[in-house]
This record gives sequence, structure tokens and C-alpha cells, in this order.
Amino acid sequence: MAKSSVLGYPRIGAEREWKKALEAFWSGKLEEAAFQDKLREIRLNHLRKQQEKGIDIIAVNDFSYYDHVLDTAVMFGIVPKRFSYTGGEVPLSVYYGIARGTKEAAASEMTKWFNTNYHYIVPELDGAEPTITENKPLIAYREAKEQLGVEGKPVIVGPLTFLKLSKGYQASETDAWLERFIPLYIQILQELEREGVQWVQIDEPILVTGLDQADLSRLRNIYEAFAAAVPSLNIMLQTYFESVENYKEISELPVKGIGLDFVHGHSGNLASIKELGFPEDKVLGAGVIDGRGIWRASLREKCGLLNELAAIVTNDRLIVQSSCSLLHVPVTVQNEAKLQTELKNALSFADEKLDEIVLLVKAINSGEGSIADDLDTCERALQALKSSDERNRLDIQQAVSAISGQQPQRSLPFAERHVVQQKKWQLPIFPTTTIGSFPQSVEVRKARQSWRKAEWNNEQYADFIREQIDIWIKLQEEIGLDVLVHGEFERTDMVEFFGEKLAGFAFTQYGWVQSYGSRCVKPPIIFGDVAFENAMTVEETKYAQTKTERPVKGMLTGPITIMNWSFVREDIPREQIAYQLAYALRQEVEALEEAGIGMIQVDEPAVREGLPLKEEDQAEYLAWAVKAFRMTTCTVQDTTQIHTHMCYCEFHDMIDSIEAMDADVISIETSRSHGELIHSFEQNTYELGIGLGVYDIHSPRVPRVEEMTNMIDRALRVLDPKLFWINPDCGLKTRGVEETVDSLRNMVKATQIAREKY
Ligand code: GLN
Ligand code: ZN
Repeated sequence: MAKSSVLGYPRIGAEREWKKALEAFWSGKLEEAAFQDKLREIRLNHLRKQQEKGIDIIAVNDFSYYDHVLDTAVMFGIVPKRFSYTGGEVPLSVYYGIARGTKEAAASEMTKWFNTNYHYIVPELDGAEPTITENKPLIAYREAKEQLGVEGKPVIVGPLTFLKLSKGYQASETDAWLERFIPLYIQILQELEREGVQWVQIDEPILVTGLDQADLSRLRNIYEAFAAAVPSLNIMLQTYFESVENYKEISELPVKGIGLDFVHGHSGNLASIKELGFPEDKVLGAGVIDGRGIWRASLREKCGLLNELAAIVTNDRLIVQSSCSLLHVPVTVQNEAKLQTELKNALSFADEKLDEIVLLVKAINSGEGSIADDLDTCERALQALKSSDERNRLDIQQAVSAISGQQPQRSLPFAERHVVQQKKWQLPIFPTTTIGSFPQSVEVRKARQSWRKAEWNNEQYADFIREQIDIWIKLQEEIGLDVLVHGEFERTDMVEFFGEKLAGFAFTQYGWVQSYGSRCVKPPIIFGDVAFENAMTVEETKYAQTKTERPVKGMLTGPITIMNWSFVREDIPREQIAYQLAYALRQEVEALEEAGIGMIQVDEPAVREGLPLKEEDQAEYLAWAVKAFRMTTCTVQDTTQIHTHMCYCEFHDMIDSIEAMDADVISIETSRSHGELIHSFEQNTYELGIGLGVYDIHSPRVPRVEEMTNMIDRALRVLDPKLFWINPDCGLKTRGVEETVDSLRNMVKATQIAREKY
């Protein structure tokens, strides 16, 4: 008989009770003992839910107090020196110190978990003496068994993945580090085996990224060592997010089960199995229910897929499961009271996915007839959304297909545009500007709340926003900036703001997912054809422009960023969604220009987030991402200056694509990349306007003039002074007013020094 399983369940709780508990504890409002009780209650609730739904093999140790990679590091006593930890069990204060920083010591770096929007804490190996501080998987297993009678499947991040995601060692030391970790893993596993654990899930998502010969032989060594040490423990070697690159080698490893993603790695994994078969002594973890997407699966299609698999792997060796941990989706659709019916019925969050998995197991064990009603309900729901008005905007589909058939191109090449723009704008050398937002003070947030709660009417709120604009236009002039912004006071979030004004979007009430630590995001859902309805930013921008002689830069979020920070429909390719967004935003660009705004910034900080994991797929993505940006911006006059902005420092391998976006000016983060980005510009010749952020806005510290002068000098060793802009790294909305003004004054001083020098 086939069985059901999931790879992990969301931690945050249907009402974000996990987040609230963490934050209450951090702020001292919750004592440690009460906090522990609370988290235990949440953890057990999640297990109970899966038990009640009928999941056969329930993951344990997927729960975390912050992040599972940090948990793994802490389990092995890997605590950076600066946290004065002296061994033994790692106290919560140290654990959270690594994650969030303390007064004395900076937090560890945080980075994206593969191509998801989840961020993990990067383990720092330098100087570490790995040891076992506590067997967390065992503790989780015991708890589930004692409290609920659940025969749990402990989840552990595998050694190869753990090492690859860690920093603080040289590539040449990889084997030495593995040699230190393998015995520790073995000790953990032996204790599990002794306890009578049946299945353990060892996560090795790194296997989908393509391994070289050295890594493949490491992989073999690791799992051969495990097989020898814990012969009666069933190891499920779990991969996800893509198909595995080295199916043959992986399928030959001495493990009991192999977990493959048949959603995101569908064609690759299925093709490999069909071509090379599946070993008869192994169990297949068939990840057929999407652990990352929010859509209801077509049960009929999934039955079809499972039947294909069952032709190769007998039922008793099949575990039907989610494609990855359900960490990446919200908890339940049930509490959503405001979504339109066609949409709501077509959604499936974590809890609904549990049901889907259980149904599929029933179908495969007892025949599809046993779930006939569910099959019908499911198809009807999917059909209703498919035929909804929102998904059938012929006007949009035709317009987008017409414009995406053309090569989006501005009428003059940059060199010539630059000349006419200079003539029109008469900017000094090293023009100064900011990235868009100014501090969202308590006052601003309060005002928005009053308006949302209808204590304030639209007019009152609009007046308030205008007052803020007045204040900041004056301040910017006084500071001496050249290109001004209105300050984005009317926006909470750069995606939500536009999503609420465009057609084709929906917003949930509780659709939160963990982004990092206690930070959760509630991505909008793009479920229909995206369409421009009314101008979204014109009023505030135009108003700001009436208050000054200097140019005010309009401010939009770009198509790729809106898409990558939303949940999107899956019935059409992402490329098409990007073009629909581009077409809608182009109309906003044109409306701004029409209203007399001659500089328009289209932010694209999230381009990298959509980058496919597999290198061979990346060029295609970048090509249409660039095209979408150009579609958004190509229809303006030659004199209209298009700006863009990107944050994060990982752009070194994307400079050609960034150049191909053909923005007149790009502002980009550099200060946290420790010069790496400047270094990559040394190897490329970037020949459009560029502002490398001269100070880090993530810190409240006011940067000194000399620090910025150094940054400028360093950049100008590589970049053309005639094309160089001076600006902070990113938007200033999280900063205080005073530090913002002081920092910008220093930035202008540094600019004056540069103007005298060059
Ligand atoms: N214009 C946005 C702001 O200033 C850009 C934010 C971002 O890059 N993430 O806030
Ligand atoms: Zn930014």
C-alpha cells in the first residue's frame, strides 16, 4: 500500500501565533518558560492536525525557533566566536544572538534558501569545533511519540547541503570538514536508530544544482558511511525545488528511499525514472503536490502521474508527498472570508494540501472510483476559475500579444539620448538623488491606519500625504539634492500598493508565509489577467512637482519584482504574466510623462529572485525579464529619463542583463558588497548612467563624509565620471528622520568634494 507524507509543515500558525510568541519573548513580554510552553503547544497542534487529516508519515524536527539551518549549526555547536559561547547546550540568548545580533556582536549573514523567498542563517565554520550539543531530532521524535502517539519522521539538513550553504572555509578544506561532520551525523542517526525510529528524512536540496565529480564522490562517501553505521534506519534522501542532475548516481546510493520533486522538477525526474528505471530495493518519495504554489492540484492529473509512476514503482514502495516542505505556503484557505468564490475554491494552502495528499493515496490504493466525488469537485473548481471573467480579458490578451511580438526599443540609443537629456535637464556632474522612499514615521503609519479604519476620510488622508510631500520637498531642496522624489508616504509596500490598484490581483487576509525569522510576508495573488485601470502614482508625483523647480522623479515597481513577490497563476507561463504587468505599467509610465514628469524610476530589486536554479535555464529567464522591463519603459520621449534601482549585492554575474535593460540611470546597492560589485564593473564596461549606493541605509549610523568620498573615489577608478550619480543604497523608509537628513547632508558634502576633484 502506498503511504502519505509531507516534508515539513509551516511554523508560523494560522494566525501567526508563532511570530507573535517570538516577538513577545524578544521584547521581554513573555518569560522563557511560558514561551517554551507556547511553542510546544503550537508544535503539537501542527502534528495533531496532520495526524487527524490522516498523514501516515509525519515530519518532526521541521519545527524551529527561528530557522532550520541555524538549528543544524547550533546542534553541532557551531557558534561564531564573537558570541562568547563556551560549550554545552546553546542557550536561547545565544541562538537568537546569532540570528538577530546582540549589542556586542553582529548577527550572522542571512541569505535566500535556494530560489525561494525563505531566508536562512548562514553557518560560519571558521574556528568552529563541531560537536553535538543536543540531539534535536531525537527530542522532537520522542515528544511526538509520547504526547500524540505519532511515529514521527525526523527531518535533518544533510551534510553535503549543510556544508555547501556554510561559509568560513576554503573549497580545498571541504573534505576535512566533511570528515569532522560525518561522525557527528552518525552519532545523531545511531541514537535515532536505537530509539526505534523508522524513517528519517535527510534533506539534500543541493543535489538539484548539479554536482561535479568531487561532490558526487563525497555524496557516495557520506551515504555509504551512514548505511554502514545505521543499517536498520530507513533514510529518505530528500531533494526538492528541481529535478536532480545526477539521477543515476543518486539512485545507486545505499539509502532506503529517494525523494524527488515531480512538480518543479517534473519533466526531468519523470524522464530519468522512465529512462533508467527505479531501483527495486528503494522507496520513491513522490513529491506530486506542490509545496510552494497555492493552487489546488488537478487530482485527475495527479492520479495520471501517479499511475505512470506506479507502472515503474510498485504501490508498496510509493510515498505520496508534497514536493517540498509546506513552509513556503500559507496555513489554510479556510479562514479567508473576502475572496471571491471562484478564486477561493481553486486555492490550496498547507492544510488543504494535506487533504489532497490523503485523497491521492486513497485513489492509488483503492482506485480512482474511491474518490470520484472529490475528483468532480476539484475539476469543477478549477474549471470555474478558468472560465472566470478575470482570466478571460481578451482585450488584454490581444494587446499584450501584439506588443510582445515587437522588440521593445527606445527610439534613440543611450549615447544619443544622453546628449538630449543632458541638454534638457542641465544636471551638474555627479547628480545627487535618493531611491524613492523617505522615513515612514509613526505619524505616517498612524495616519494610514486612521484612514484604513475609516476614522479619516479620503480627503483627510490625501491632505496628510500632501503635507508630508511639502515637508520633504523643502527638506530635499535645502539639503541640496538635484533630483527629488515625493517620498512614497502613501505606500506600505512596493508590491501591494500597485497590486491593489491593478486588475487581476487578489489579497488574502491570513495568507502569510515566513520570509525570515519572525518576519512574514503576505504576497498578493495574481489570479487573472493583469490590467491597468486608473493612474496609480500620478497625483502625488504631479503634486510634488508643483512644489519645486527641480525635477521630481516618478516611482514605480517593475513588472518582474511585482511578479516575483506575488503568488502567480500557473495556467499561463510566467513570461506572459510579466508582459501583462509590463503592459499595465507602461500605461502608468505614459500617464506620468503625460502629466509632465520627465524622470521615471522603475524599481526592479527582485530580478534575481526569479533566477532559475539550473544554469541552463537562466539565460532564457533573464532575456524575458529584460524584455518586460524594456516593454514597460520604451515608449517614452528621448528626453524622458528612465531610472531603475536594484538592491542586494549579488549582481556580479548579471551585469550584461542589467545593461540590456537600457535604463538611462541605474542605482544599485554596493556598500554591503564590500567592493565586490565595483570589482565586477572593472571587468565589464558599463556604459549607461549609474549610481553605486555610497552608504548603507540598513544601519541607523550616520556615515561620515570621508567614508562616502572613499566609495566615490573607488567607483570612479572604474566608472566614467560623466555617467556617475550619487545616492544612498536603497529607500529610506525604515530610517529615522534625523539620521536621514544628516546622512544626506553628508552625502551632498561628499559630492561637492568630488565635483572639485574631477
Ligand atoms: N523605491 C523603493 C523605496 O525607496 C525601492 C525599495 C527597494 O528597492 N526595495 O523604498
Ligand atoms: Zn533597494
